[in-house]
Amino acid sequence: MLEWSEELTEYQELIRKFVTTELAPLREQLELGDLSPYGVMRRFYTSFGIGESAKERFEARQAGIPNSLPQRSAAETLIPMVEFSRFSPGIVTALGSSVSLTAGSILRNGTDEQKRRWAIDLLTLKTIGAWAITEPDSGSDAIGGMRSTAVADAEGWVLNGTKTFITNAPDADTIVFICKLNDGRPSRERQIMTFVLDKGMPGLVQGPPMRKMGLKSSPTGEISLNDVRVGSDRLLMHADKASGSKGTKATFATERASVVAMALGMIQQCLELSVEYASTRRQFGHSIGDFQLIQLKLAKMEVARLNVANLLFRYVELVDGGRRPTLAEASAMKLYAAQSTMEVALEAVQVFGGNGYMTENQVEQLCRDAKSLQIYGGTDEIQVTHVAKDLLGTMK
Ligand SMILES: Cc1cc2nc3c(=O)[nH]c(=O)nc-3n(C[C@H](O)[C@H](O)[C@H](O)COP(=O)(O)OP(=O)(O)OC[C@H]3O[C@@H](n4cnc5c(N)ncnc54)[C@H](O)[C@@H]3O)c2cc1C
Repeated sequence: MLEWSEELTEYQELIRKFVTTELAPLREQLELGDLSPYGVMRRFYTSFGIGESAKERFEARQAGIPNSLPQRSAAETLIPMVEFSRFSPGIVTALGSSVSLTAGSILRNGTDEQKRRWAIDLLTLKTIGAWAITEPDSGSDAIGGMRSTAVADAEGWVLNGTKTFITNAPDADTIVFICKLNDGRPSRERQIMTFVLDKGMPGLVQGPPMRKMGLKSSPTGEISLNDVRVGSDRLLMHADKASGSKGTKATFATERASVVAMALGMIQQCLELSVEYASTRRQFGHSIGDFQLIQLKLAKMEVARLNVANLLFRYVELVDGGRRPTLAEASAMKLYAAQSTMEVALEAVQVFGGNGYMTENQVEQLCRDAKSLQIYGGTDEIQVTHVAKDLLGTMK
């Protein structure tokens, strides 16, 4: 695949129109935290019938019958991520955490009853989800260093622990909480358990939005559990067992491709804004675009755009053909895309000079937002280790 097909280009144009009319005018309000992201997300789902078709596919799958909808391309999920990220990578993060991570985890690991109880409402955005693994003392080593516990009692389980940096935590209706069975074994040997929790359960506290550097349109917060009592109906029985399993590698690939899509949107936006500014801003009697040092920045941005776009096309072609990138490839894609976005965004600020440092110019926001891509979904350093371990065959 060298470019989107005619049909996908038409779809992209429709999404772009939605983003220009419905999202771009709200960018500042979203950035200042004056507006929650969920209204725009729901309008998007309604306008494009996304929730309804997800529900139809889900119900057909459950009933074991073919649905009447056309075969989907991975591009249909990724193109909106590209276009939304031009203005609000935070919304893409909030949406991805709710749908891909939270609903995805329940769909992969839940019973039919659990899927019906939580996944349909998440897939249609009737409810918002949060997926909680990171803790104050365990991030990159999320599983190994995890302290949150489940203890069996006569009626089910008693859950305790604190999760941090959780996207959608302040508002989530449904929370996927990952912890370890406290059965007296040393912490690193304990079994991983995953539970689904509902907002308002006794002992469950969802903290306020944390103040952060970027992605301000995606609320991030803490979740703490103090003797939360749950029955086994909330336990995801087939929970993702350990990192390195086939299922977990597939999840990593999907997650990491999302970052490539976000990166492409952010790079394109930085490039377009920089080209326009370089053509109009004048110094020393010339457009700054006449200066070779500025031209070099634009050229490097174009190289990054082409490379990241090609990574995305390759990913779509693989997935649409029924294959997936290896863990090394998916991690290398995320590493390259995240680093390129950061470099491009920093250079975009430089092209804009003092104006680039001012909040009223969008490159300032994109530069702060870009840093998140190098941290969440596995830091750059963790991507490096995943690339190398997968190549060496030492990934557990
Ligand atoms: C905006 C945002 C949203 C997030 N949303 C969620 C969410 O919805 N759910 C969730 O569970 N988590 C979420 N996270 C958490 C995120 O996944 C973690 O921040 C990330 O995995 C890094 O963990 P950490 O912050 O504890 O850093 P640490 O693991 O403490 O890392 C600190 C530094 O040490 C480096 N390092 C660690 N281990 C190694 C190693 N083996 N080799 C070399 N270097 C290493 C890291 O790369 C980093 O540079 C979010 C984070 C952010 C910023």
